[in-house]
Amino acid sequence: MGVPLDTREEQLDEIVDRLYDEYPDATISLNFSNRLELLIAVMLSAQCTDERVNKETEHLFEKYESVEDYANADVDELAEDLNSITYYNNKAKWIHSACGTIIEEHDGEVPDTMSELTDLTGVGRKTANVVLQHGHDVVEGIVVDTHVQRLSRRLGLTEEKTPQKIESDLMTFVPEEDWQWLTHLFISHGRATCTARNPDCGDCILEDICPSSKLDNDIDLASGEAWD
Ligand code: SF4
Repeated sequence: MGVPLDTREEQLDEIVDRLYDEYPDATISLNFSNRLELLIAVMLSAQCTDERVNKETEHLFEKYESVEDYANADVDELAEDLNSITYYNNKAKWIHSACGTIIEEHDGEVPDTMSELTDLTGVGRKTANVVLQHGHDVVEGIVVDTHVQRLSRRLGLTEEKTPQKIESDLMTFVPEEDWQWLTHLFISHGRATCTARNPDCGDCILEDICPSSKLDNDIDLASGEAWD
């Protein structure tokens, strides 16, 4: 029986409690050992799996150790070094440019504000939020990736469609201390059970409060369309 709780606040509390019990160790799955590596890994992870990024950064971080290494690199060579990553040509250009800006405008240090980060080429609000949260311990917003986008709609927490609008909407009622956790929990559940194409509603710990449950609802609220 997929029936959500009366208010979005109650629905959210229940979801977070259950997911926290299920995924107590949920955290970022990209490998990095400093802020620069974090920034590069997150830039590479757009439209690409974390597993693939981790495989590629294993050798990348040995070859490129500083912002100067990226800023002074030949862009074609950098692109070749990233060639298993989605959109590697563009990402090589963005990383090259962003690292040049970090040297010129930030003394070689990865910036620690949303506006400075999003001024870097190829860095959007999602990337900036991850870098702020995991590189600087600053939580300014909610990282809305494809899993958060899908689950927050499926679970009836928002009707907004774009990541930016979903983030703004969630920030109106999700307590600030849950902003970071929400992302990790939704990513964990989105990977394990509530997958994009074939969610396992029959084995889902949120089934009884999910208004999209395939067991008794025809519509996937993530897309607004009927389940296949
Ligand atoms: S797996 Fe099914 S029941 Fe669980 S959250 Fe996703 S759509 Fe809802």
